[in-house]
Order: sequence, then C-alpha cells, then structure tokens
Amino acid sequence: MASLDRPQPVNLPVDWTPGSWRGRPAVQQPTYPDAEALAGVQRELAALPPLVTSWEILSLKRHLADAQEGRRFLLQGGDCAESFVDCTSDVISNRLKVLLQMSLVLVHGLRLPVVRVGRFAGQYAKPRSADTETRGEHTLPSYRGDIINAPEFSLEARVPDPRRMIKAHARSAMTMNFVRSLIDGGFADLHHPEYWDLGWVTHSPLADEYHRMVAGIGDAVRFMETLSGSEVHNLNRVDFYTSHEALLLPYEEAQTRQVPRQWGWFNLSTHYPWIGMRTAALDGAHLEYFRGIRNPIAVKIGPSAAPDQVLRLIEALNPDDEPGRLTLIHRMGATQIAAKLSPLLDAVRREGRRVLWVCDPMHGNTENSSNGYKTRRFGNIRSEVEQSFDLHAAAGTRLGGVHLELTGEDVTECTGGARDLTDLDLERAYRSTVDPRLNYEQALETAMLIVRKQAQ
Ligand code: PEP
Ligand code: MN
Repeated sequence: MASLDRPQPVNLPVDWTPGSWRGRPAVQQPTYPDAEALAGVQRELAALPPLVTSWEILSLKRHLADAQEGRRFLLQGGDCAESFVDCTSDVISNRLKVLLQMSLVLVHGLRLPVVRVGRFAGQYAKPRSADTETRGEHTLPSYRGDIINAPEFSLEARVPDPRRMIKAHARSAMTMNFVRSLIDGGFADLHHPEYWDLGWVTHSPLADEYHRMVAGIGDAVRFMETLSGSEVHNLNRVDFYTSHEALLLPYEEAQTRQVPRQWGWFNLSTHYPWIGMRTAALDGAHLEYFRGIRNPIAVKIGPSAAPDQVLRLIEALNPDDEPGRLTLIHRMGATQIAAKLSPLLDAVRREGRRVLWVCDPMHGNTENSSNGYKTRRFGNIRSEVEQSFDLHAAAGTRLGGVHLELTGEDVTECTGGARDLTDLDLERAYRSTVDPRLNYEQALETAMLIVRKQAQ
C-alpha cells in the first residue's frame, strides 16, 4: 500500500508528459485564433514563478488523507467564477471572513480540525452548455470565464484572447498574496473573531447565534490561558489552501513543473485542482492531464455516473490507492441523490478503494425562478446535505466535507434560508454572471445545519 512517507510512488505514470493530454479529445476548450500567440503566452507563463509550492501541496494531501479517515472535515468554498473586476480588497477579505466564520462553526460543532480550501486565486474558467450564444440575429462564441474572454456581447469581447491567461495568473497571485498576508498578519487570530464581522450585516438572527458561540469560545480560550499562564498557541493562524477547476489545459500545462528533490510533476498554479462534471470522460484530455500530476485532485460526479465508470476513474487517477490523492465530489441534486449516490458508495466500498467523499449541494439544484433568474432554493441545498450524511451512514462510508458556492457580498441569488428570500428578492441584488451563490447568512446556516446533522 502506498504511504505518504514513501519517496517514490508505487508506479510512476506511464507515457505521461504535461502535454500528453493533447493526444486525447479535449472538450470545453476555446478556439484561439492565433496559435503562435497562444504558444508565446504558454512560454511566458512557464517562466514565471509558481503560485504555490510542492511543500504546501503535500501538506494539504496529508490533511485530506486525515479527512478520509474522519479526523478532519473539508470546507471548500468560493465564487462559481472569479472575475477580474472583483479582484479587490473587499471582495477577497469578505469571502475570507465568511469562510473563517463557517470554519469556526464547524470546528466548534464537529470537534474536528477543518481543512479550509478556497475556490479562488485561479477560478477563472467556466464550462458552458453551448459553444455559441445567439441574441437576435447575432451569434457569438460563449463567454467562458475571464481567463478566456469577456462577458459583454460583442465580437471583440468574445474572441478568446490568450493574453488573458497572463492577467488571470497575475490576479491569482495578487489574491493569494493578500490572503496569505491577512492570515500571516493575524486576521485569522481566534483572539479577534471580531475581525471577521461583515460591515454590512445588521440584525441577523444567525449572526446572533454565531456571536454567542464565539463568546463561549473566547471564554474558553481565556480560561485556558489563565490556567497555563501563557497564550494558547496556534490560535493566531490557520492554513488556507486554494483550488480551481483546471479546465483550460494550455494554462494548466504551462504551470506544471518538476521541483528539486521531489519526484514527479506538480501543478503549481493551485494546491487542489478539480475536474468538472462535463470534462470527466475516461478517455478525455482532462483525465490524461490529471493522472500525471502529484497534487491532491478532485472530480465532480453527477447523476449520470455509473458505478463501473467511477471505479475506472479511480483506477485511472489513483491506481496505488495513495491516501489523500483523490476526492470525489458528488453533486446529484436533492431529488436524485437518494437513487443515484448509494450504488456508487456501495461499489467503492466493496472494492476497498480509498477516496474522500465530498458533497456539492449546489450544482444539482440549479433552476430558473419564475422571474427568469438562474437560482437555487436553500431548502434543496439543505436537503442534499442532509441526505448525503444519511446515505453515507447507511452505506458505511463517510462524508468528509462540503463544496459550496458562496460570497461575502450582500447578494440575493439563492432563495430561502433564514430570511426566506423569494423570487422577487432576486431582483434586489443578483450579481453573479454565472451560478447563484449562497450569501453570508445562507452560508453560515449551511455550516450550522452540518453541525446539527452530525450531532444526530
Ligand atoms: C462548478 O463547480 O462551477 C461546476 C461547473 O460544477 P460541475 O462541474 O459540477 O457542473
Ligand atoms: Mn458553478
């Protein structure tokens, strides 16, 4: 069995290079008009310093291995897609505040360390249901995320521009730099949870519950410090990792490096890349790319996945059953999960394969509101999380984390929740250009419901 301390994997990936994905069908890729410009951008990216290090990547892998064994819980969250204009101090710090508050609720309620992973610092590429978009008499390439083109409906905006990769890389670096500086500077210090309050939140019933919990933790910390006569250590910083859908393969390829004194290849643009549901074909380019990198990786699994397909996917991506290597993120939808998830859990358990199971209760529950917004009902999100815990318990497997779309901005994009937002409320503050996100209260409520569910 593979061990994390082993200097070599049991099997090095055979016939793999960072570019071997080019021999497989690559779906959801833009068509760049100028191949030479694309190659130039790839060379430029490959020469820039990496955004993360192999040490961080391997330490996350160990944390995820713990989560597989029930010793940690994964909280992964952020925007559906980052946008260049939202690379601002407020948007980044507000999102971090929500994630820190949620993780405190989870640590306190689950009595487990939480692995914190942002969907940020690189979440710029989006899979789309159609390659083109037609409005009236005009048909243009679809918007595929800011790393590829721009959302405005004009030919100039929509033609894929490889230079955008350089901009996305720079913004990812800025985002990561700011998050790291905040955390290293004391922003995540448990002695100062007031740093995480969002300026715009007033009179929130959930925030009151949260603040009561925080006051209780503060008392406990002060008690411990009085007893020991010194500060309780390790409360002033937390680990934060980054993740994104590694969709745009020329970008990911250019960030794939070998590292001194390590075997194999790492994607150094993020700690924890994932494969989206639409690009998870067994013979596809994305699987080929992912099989060769040493990062911990995740794959989204939807309702059409068959048990045999999931087992083959595990074999392709983690043939040595390395702990922490592979996460399966199920996103079935509240109405389908009961029928679709259990056969997958049974098959993986029966074969004794080692994966981290994570629930994404967002992407199977997207619908159109009566007034034409792409939305999600909080009741469905809650139901999918709750059913996930029950189905894992029944199958003898373990739900090790959640994957959420959320923001620290004052938005109304999902309906329901503590304030019972209606379709009409969506008109007030709908800002997403892609999928609807949980707002602060809905995100905090999700953390609280996980704790309540686990306590049952
Ligand atoms: C996403 O995470 O934004 C996404 C597109 O998810 P999925 O691949 O599960 O549809
Ligand atoms: Mn999404």
